[in-house]
Amino acid sequence: MKKRIKSKYKIVQFGQPVLREIAKPVTVFHHKLHELVDSLAETLYRSEDGAAIAAPQIGVSKRIVVIDYEDEYLELLNPEIISSSGTQTGYEGCLSLPGFIGNVTRAQTVKVKYQDRDGNEITIEKNGNLARCLQHEIDHLDGILFIDKVIDKFLVHQDTDEKLKLQDVLDLSNGKNFEATT
Ligand code: ZN
Repeated sequence: MKKRIKSKYKIVQFGQPVLREIAKPVTVFHHKLHELVDSLAETLYRSEDGAAIAAPQIGVSKRIVVIDYEDEYLELLNPEIISSSGTQTGYEGCLSLPGFIGNVTRAQTVKVKYQDRDGNEITIEKNGNLARCLQHEIDHLDGILFIDKVIDKFLVHQDTDEKLKLQDVLDLSNGKNFEATT
């Protein structure tokens, strides 16, 4: 059978309610799930400089994350942080709010338990940027966005230096002043 991965998904932007939902666990590990994981990865690769993506960001409220960062490719289903240590503070951005970054404090090291696309259980331990990435994406599965954790009052655009008031972005992400776009 011919393999077909169609880019039918678009990255949903802050303000869409699906980004605030608690995503549902994956329970069936069949070919339809594999297609969804492939689509998620494909959507990530179509984005400009995305390192990772969570299924709610393509409008699918399921606990799936794909990461391609620092030569590491990970597909995580039902990921859970089982332990963490240390702290790090650094700039972070999100495909659902293109260009804007803000300072977020995260754990330096995390141990994550997850399942692969066939349902096998795996545990990994990562630190630094990859640990940050894991925490950001796993937050997405619980409807938590990086702006909820930004320690400054503004977000800044990484290319243009344009500033956005954090509170305005929070209001937008919580559905205030949100106008549906098609
Ligand atoms: Zn994000």
